Amino acid sequence: MPPVVIIGGGVSGLSAAYYLAKGGVSATLIESRPRLGGVIQTEHVEGCTIEAGPDSFLSIKPAALDLIRDLGLAGDVIGSNDRIRKTYVRRNGKLVALPDGLMMMVPTKIMPLLTTGLIGWGTKLRMGLELLRAPKPRDEDESVAEFIDEHYGAEAVDYLAEPLLSGIYGGNPSHLSVRSVLPRFVELSTRYGSLTRGVLAERAKAGTKNAAPAPLFQTLKGGLGQMVDAVTASLQGKMEVRQARAQCIERAGTGFRIRMEDGWLEAAQVVVACEAHSGALLLPALDARVAELLGTVPYSSSMTVALGFDAADFARPPAGFGFLVPKKERRRLIACTWIGTKFPNRVPEGKIVARCFLGGMEDAGILQESDEAILAAVTAELHEIAGFHAVPRFSRIFRWPRSMAQYTVGHPRRLAELESRAAAIPGLYLAGNAYQGIGIPDCIRMGRAAAEKILRMSA
Ligand SMILES: Cc1cc2nc3c(=O)[nH]c(=O)nc-3n(C[C@H](O)[C@H](O)[C@H](O)COP(=O)(O)OP(=O)(O)OC[C@H]3O[C@@H](n4cnc5c(N)ncnc54)[C@H](O)[C@@H]3O)c2cc1C
Repeated sequence: MPPVVIIGGGVSGLSAAYYLAKGGVSATLIESRPRLGGVIQTEHVEGCTIEAGPDSFLSIKPAALDLIRDLGLAGDVIGSNDRIRKTYVRRNGKLVALPDGLMMMVPTKIMPLLTTGLIGWGTKLRMGLELLRAPKPRDEDESVAEFIDEHYGAEAVDYLAEPLLSGIYGGNPSHLSVRSVLPRFVELSTRYGSLTRGVLAERAKAGTKNAAPAPLFQTLKGGLGQMVDAVTASLQGKMEVRQARAQCIERAGTGFRIRMEDGWLEAAQVVVACEAHSGALLLPALDARVAELLGTVPYSSSMTVALGFDAADFARPPAGFGFLVPKKERRRLIACTWIGTKFPNRVPEGKIVARCFLGGMEDAGILQESDEAILAAVTAELHEIAGFHAVPRFSRIFRWPRSMAQYTVGHPRRLAELESRAAAIPGLYLAGNAYQGIGIPDCIRMGRAAAEKILRMSA
């Protein structure tokens, strides 16, 4: 069997490795970090399960659950505590609950919209009138900010779209592509005109109006690191895992050769499953244009800071799942999750853990600051925003430089060119968060798709 090399041991590369091994094809997995999982990393601190990177995956996209089932971990899946889901947004220095019935930034319930203090009457009226919009063809890509502004006005961009997307992408809605980031909303706008009408109509069609919805987010009891550990264990004896940095890929006969620090590695097929900026360094000799396109995908740098408190130090438990801080009101903190509230069994009785999200496109410099400076800044902001004075009993800081791809306006066109050029190089496959989705299920789907193509070739 000719050898396959997978470059990148994040969830995209691990998914490719897992499905290759399952199909009986062995491969070499190359990962430059001393551990597998990429940005997925779980730590257990004083009985608390702390996610350094992602904390969950969207349950409506099936690829993550499929992999978890294949790994025999279905019994360990837990859902977010949606019964008590409430997220707050900072407005004029106060935390205001996101109105009930919002689907991202699309309102679907009248009363919560009328009574919310998060947006003013002008925007509420605009949201009502949006119901009357006629369908409009949308040929060109545009920014999320332009699209949402057109539907609901600038305040909806500032206090809904911006904080929600900053909390996911660490990105700016004025730069993000609506076609790549909110493709379903583009479809609804084209079809129904009104996003609100579109969401309600689709919901009615799906018959989900009164059905108890599945939890929006899911994870594993032991944290997402449990999935990484299970994939790693399943690869033992079936796949060589090398801790090394691949430096470049060249053609060699009908296959490839990969330059490593200590020589060349031959491969019949290669899955490039690293960040696009790393891929850009690997591929110039193979296809300069593919390398150039990969180099144009911007990445945001982010940081999570977990702060553990004694619950006894709080006058009352913090409200809801957490809060988002819109750019208009932001100093450093972008978002905070009370992890013991969002998921069951994450934090033992008597403790409270805040997971703070910082950095993003606007504040990458924070990753260079010292741990002491970061802790002081985060604790002070948390005190001010959430209104308590407890001192953290433990803390963990996790830096993720250039780890989150930004699908900027024009991404669909860039992706189409990338995919068609890559498809013209037999034996080369791209998988990762720079292409068709940054979430864990999308990354798993792309890794699996690469493996399935290789399995078909090897059959
Ligand atoms: C802080 C944070 C929170 C997030 N939260 C969520 C969430 O809650 N839910 C969700 O669905 N998604 C979330 N995401 C996004 C999601 O986790 C990532 O998009 C996804 O895990 C990326 O997986 P990947 O394998 O494509 O890339 P990575 O995890 O970045 O892995 C790429 C790997 O390639 C390795 N590598 C790079 N170059 C080379 C080379 N030349 N040779 C060898 N190895 C190389 C790197 O060391 C790295 O380990 C979050 C991301 C971050 C950073």
